Amino acid sequence: MNEFVETLLEMKWHEPKSSYDVVIIGGGGHGLATAYYLATQHGITNVAVIEANYIGSGNSGRNTTIIRANYGIPESVRFYQHSLELYAGLEDETGCWIMHATKGLLWIAHTETGMRAERARAIINTACGAETHAVGPQEIKQICPQIDLTGNGRYPVLGASYHVGAATARHDRVVWAYAQGAMQRGVTVLQHTKVTGLIRDGERVVGVETDRGPISAGIVMSSVGGNVTKIAAHADVRLPVRTHALQAFVTNAYAPGFSGIISDSELSCYVSQTPRGQMLIGAEFEPQPSYSMQSTFNSLASCAKKITNCLPFLRDLRVLRQWTGICDVSADFSPIMGFTGVDGFVISTGWGTWGFKGIPAGGEQMAQLIATGKTPDLIAPFALDRFARDHAMADLGSAGTR
Ligand SMILES: Cc1cc2nc3c(=O)[nH]c(=O)nc-3n(C[C@H](O)[C@H](O)[C@H](O)COP(=O)(O)OP(=O)(O)OC[C@H]3O[C@@H](n4cnc5c(N)ncnc54)[C@H](O)[C@@H]3O)c2cc1C
Repeated sequence: MNEFVETLLEMKWHEPKSSYDVVIIGGGGHGLATAYYLATQHGITNVAVIEANYIGSGNSGRNTTIIRANYGIPESVRFYQHSLELYAGLEDETGCWIMHATKGLLWIAHTETGMRAERARAIINTACGAETHAVGPQEIKQICPQIDLTGNGRYPVLGASYHVGAATARHDRVVWAYAQGAMQRGVTVLQHTKVTGLIRDGERVVGVETDRGPISAGIVMSSVGGNVTKIAAHADVRLPVRTHALQAFVTNAYAPGFSGIISDSELSCYVSQTPRGQMLIGAEFEPQPSYSMQSTFNSLASCAKKITNCLPFLRDLRVLRQWTGICDVSADFSPIMGFTGVDGFVISTGWGTWGFKGIPAGGEQMAQLIATGKTPDLIAPFALDRFARDHAMADLGSAGTR
């Protein structure tokens, strides 16, 4: 045991019932945060979170832990900035140590076109409340002394946008903090229980079928990560979502002192350092839609090759672990939150490769929507019917590499 795993959680496991006011499918960050805020902000505790595996076994326990708000459109910047601020207060609020650390994020550019994108990013972010500056090579070197500004002689670093408030937090601790807070207030979490269908009364969804029997519900929310298409199909809801695999890896420990987060949109890769000192590296999602969680050598080799151009010290480290998650990538790269057009069935999806940072705000806003029956202003732009209304929230800046 060490300081990273020492905490004994005070989970309150409740006996399953046959009926709840709210049933949430999926015990990832979004499902558990919604349950937590239903309990803490609305006093709704007759809630079950149903998880096919163990909580956090999906993407919420597999991500590269980056929290940022430097998105490409005002609606997204405002939403993620709110989430970033909720994250900053989450340890105080829940009493759980989630290893939150503000680090700053350098989004580096190697071409004039790239620099134009970073300058634009800095302007729109700052205008919408997410402090971001355009910086030159010398400032980059001060923030990240390990960087090779020549980019291995091939990819010279011309500048970057520097997003001051970007942070990291340990992913599974975030899941546990929300689960513990919800369960202590009476929420039931059923692990190793798979939802196999939705129960309908006419058009309305009135419960779920599980591999342990039916459970009825006043309202059902789906927050099942990359499995959303299958769950939504039970309600005859077609979503503009495709499931893509995303891989990441960590190295052995490097000397402490790699303080920031570096992202490179032109080479499509990013890196930060974990509290243990390991270098945590990721890239773009696989272009081929798939439910496969198999990690590949191709992905590892190509990402390692790209990231070492500007950070040559990484060449001396060893790869310790590589893993994969399956992501619910929406057509416009923005989340889809809210009503589906089917009574009794709401969704939180389209979190793709960017949804860890959205967990606090996504959970808070979905809880408000469920409790009040009204869509909160902050997430109104992310309603499913935006596609039918031709109001897509196109934002390639959602992916950490664009
Ligand atoms: C490698 C990788 C790196 C990433 N890096 C970042 C990052 O740095 N920053 C960031 O913001 N985002 C990142 N993401 C994205 C982020 O992790 C996800 O968007 C987010 O965790 C989604 O949370 P969720 O609660 O919607 O889904 P999940 O955490 O995937 O939870 C869904 C849960 O539903 C369960 N489930 C599925 N089907 C059923 C069923 N039929 N019945 C019951 N339960 C079911 C699953 O077992 C799972 O536990 C990354 C993702 C990956 C894979």
